[in-house]
Amino acid sequence: MDKEQRLRVAIQKSGRLTDHSLDLLSRCGLKYSRGKDQLLCYGENMPLDVLLVRDDDIPDLVREDVCDLGIVGGNVVNEKRLSFLARGVEPLFEVLQSLDFGRCRLSIAVPDNFNYTGPQSLAGRRIATTYPHTTSHWLAENGVPAEVVTLSGAVEIAPRLGRADVICDLVSTGSTLQANHLRESEVVMQSQALLIRTPVPLPQAKEDWLNRILLRIDGVQQVKESKYIMLHAPRSALAEIRRLLPGSESPTIIPLEGTTDKVAIHAVCRENVFWETLESLKRAGASSLLVLPVEKMLA
Ligand code: ATP
Ligand code: ZN
Repeated sequence: MDKEQRLRVAIQKSGRLTDHSLDLLSRCGLKYSRGKDQLLCYGENMPLDVLLVRDDDIPDLVREDVCDLGIVGGNVVNEKRLSFLARGVEPLFEVLQSLDFGRCRLSIAVPDNFNYTGPQSLAGRRIATTYPHTTSHWLAENGVPAEVVTLSGAVEIAPRLGRADVICDLVSTGSTLQANHLRESEVVMQSQALLIRTPVPLPQAKEDWLNRILLRIDGVQQVKESKYIMLHAPRSALAEIRRLLPGSESPTIIPLEGTTDKVAIHAVCRENVFWETLESLKRAGASSLLVLPVEKMLA
């Protein structure tokens, strides 16, 4: 395929989203060559190339149609969207899918000795953040007049340096906050990695590949938690066993050679199968239980 026919996806070059993004593309079947310090990975078996960039640049690359697709945190997407809207820039980009990794939240955190009783406690305060648009939007929604101090990094030390009273920053475990004597007091937004696309219509061949990739991403997400379970059971226990199988639709029931009162049951469970479930199945009369991971799934 010539260059015009190849999809290009922008992902984070080096950071928290990088490994997950490359792993997702591999699970979708992409084989690529990645040289050291290379910015563009060439897809060897699909018309899909990967551009490695700073995460903050991804929405612009997609909006400007330099890349057709991008994988980036919802926090960055939201901040960019608000900043584009403030400047009257359109069209933007479209969010296609949540990708179920890179989970974090953008939160207000206050110093340990700050008496926080609700958003109004922030009135008249200085809030340090690298997400000024999202923070201002939240403050406006809550009717809180406060000053937003835009920093480019190291937000968590701003209160100690006297540059701000409180912060609005990304949190996942909270350990960074704790180390800086800060306490999370309000969640401004929940975030996870998103797949975004250009607003520009793609040539049909590219659009077709994009749809195939979207279906594969669906499949990847479904198998994550899915298990294939096999067991033997007395016919009399069938109803109870079907009730106990977590998230399974219609199991396959197979007669067992040499017996009429026992059957084999095979089922895909859309949820993890825990030891407790196996123990309950056994108590209900099941035997020879086997649980297997599911590698691929296509509805
Ligand atoms: P870059 O050099 O690409 O600009 P960065 O420092 O902005 O890197 P990372 O710290 O790698 O980016 O974070 C990338 C994304 O990972 C964040 O925008 C967010 O969506 C997600 N993320 C998940 N957990 C966290 C966390 N605890 N702190 C910060 N980001 C997190
Ligand atoms: Zn960044």
